[in-house]
Amino acid sequence: MAYFTLTDICSFLYLGDMTDVFWFVYILCWFFPDVKKMAQVRKESKWCENKETAYHITSPLGTITIKACNIGMHSLSQPPHLNDENFSPNKRTEVELVQEDKEFTTPPPVIKDCLYWLQVYFKNPSQVSQVPFPTICHLQSQNLSFRARVWQTLADTVGPGEVITYGALATRLRNPGAARSVGSAMSHNPVGIIVPCHRVVRSSDLGLYHGGQRQKVKLWLLKHEGVDKF
Ligand SMILES: [Zn+2]
Repeated sequence: MAYFTLTDICSFLYLGDMTDVFWFVYILCWFFPDVKKMAQVRKESKWCENKETAYHITSPLGTITIKACNIGMHSLSQPPHLNDENFSPNKRTEVELVQEDKEFTTPPPVIKDCLYWLQVYFKNPSQVSQVPFPTICHLQSQNLSFRARVWQTLADTVGPGEVITYGALATRLRNPGAARSVGSAMSHNPVGIIVPCHRVVRSSDLGLYHGGQRQKVKLWLLKHEGVDKF
């Protein structure tokens, strides 16, 4: 099998040194913005270099998985196979941390915060604004990407029982033409429920949730918060 070194690739592309490589990538990004976007998505899918641990929490919506490092949450997700056909919520399910190890281990503060936030949310969503907001690792940076600013603004300004359109959220970010980018930020939201992408709707209808696979989950969350117009 043939292996190519960076030098081989550079000489194949008529690139002399690393400065030329930089300009080559720069021009490539200029002509193909998707390359830049892919690099950004790749960067956003790996939040930090810290060790990530997964915790599982029972809830009325089924098991919720939270991944976090020692700084904050990386993601909150539902089972990957969940869809409108197999969604079977149970309001009476308690929100509890699943202890997988036989030996009891105390969860880190960020998981305790998430657990408490979710317990209050599922019991009485209108009270959740009085509970400390769980720390989200990728919102701790000084230089937030557009997507991260969308998530931050949504979490800060759209409370339980409220809905907002993609366009109105874009306007709130002082970028009225960016409704599509807001939609894209919603579909890449790593921290569902806590960053409430279920509250972002279209002006004409509910809008999609998880690519249209989990419309019942979106409806359930909105109804749970007292939104009945969909
Ligand atoms: Zn982290």
